[in-house]
Amino acid sequence: MKIAIDGPAGAGKSTLARELAKIMGFIYIDTGAMYRAITWKVIRENIDIDNETAVRDLAEKTRIHFEINSQTQKIICDHEDITSVIRSPQVGDLVSRVALFPLVREILVKQQQEMARNNSVVMDGRDIGEIVLPDADFKFFLTAEIEERARRRTEEFNQAGYSVTADSIRDDLNRRDKSDYQRPVGALKVLEDSIIIDTTDLTVAEVLKRMLAIIRGE
Ligand code: C5P
Repeated sequence: MKIAIDGPAGAGKSTLARELAKIMGFIYIDTGAMYRAITWKVIRENIDIDNETAVRDLAEKTRIHFEINSQTQKIICDHEDITSVIRSPQVGDLVSRVALFPLVREILVKQQQEMARNNSVVMDGRDIGEIVLPDADFKFFLTAEIEERARRRTEEFNQAGYSVTADSIRDDLNRRDKSDYQRPVGALKVLEDSIIIDTTDLTVAEVLKRMLAIIRGE
């Protein structure tokens, strides 16, 4: 079974995808982490972020995989554990510029499809229902109001030890949303077969319950 979860940043995708995968016994694939991994490497190797060919070459030689055990999921990039560093505000600021490049998307989409080939998966991102897993059994589109998404992200950053303000996070989300919704290739969009859930006033448990009811046909 393939479950696709798309939506803007801060809508609750990764939390829900992780929980859903745990309950269903499926593999969770966080595709945003893959775009973040390339962005992190662009910064570290001082690559020109506006040079599509250079970023594509970097993506091509980068090996990304998820290390999964019962409790945690790590993202490994060329043998290095980058689970925490890719969540920095700096990577968040730059990632949608890397995600804009069709040549980079082509490489990552292929890897994502390969990961899903022989597994039941829950995959979250922006283009999963349309491009990566067009035959997904369920295509969820999670969304929430901008103020609530900014509040959640600010809390996450503060808990991780970054001092950020809700205003700067809201600006970053607005900028990222614009780029994610408008890019020519791999844009975020509601599809004809999307199941839309607005998570603004719902707890994680409530959203999870709705998703499970839909999947189980209740
Ligand atoms: O999901 P997350 O916020 O970690 O994703 C980071 C960025 O990666 C998004 O803002 C988006 O620009 C990009 N992305 C994408 N396609 C995906 C997943 C993420 O373009 N499938």
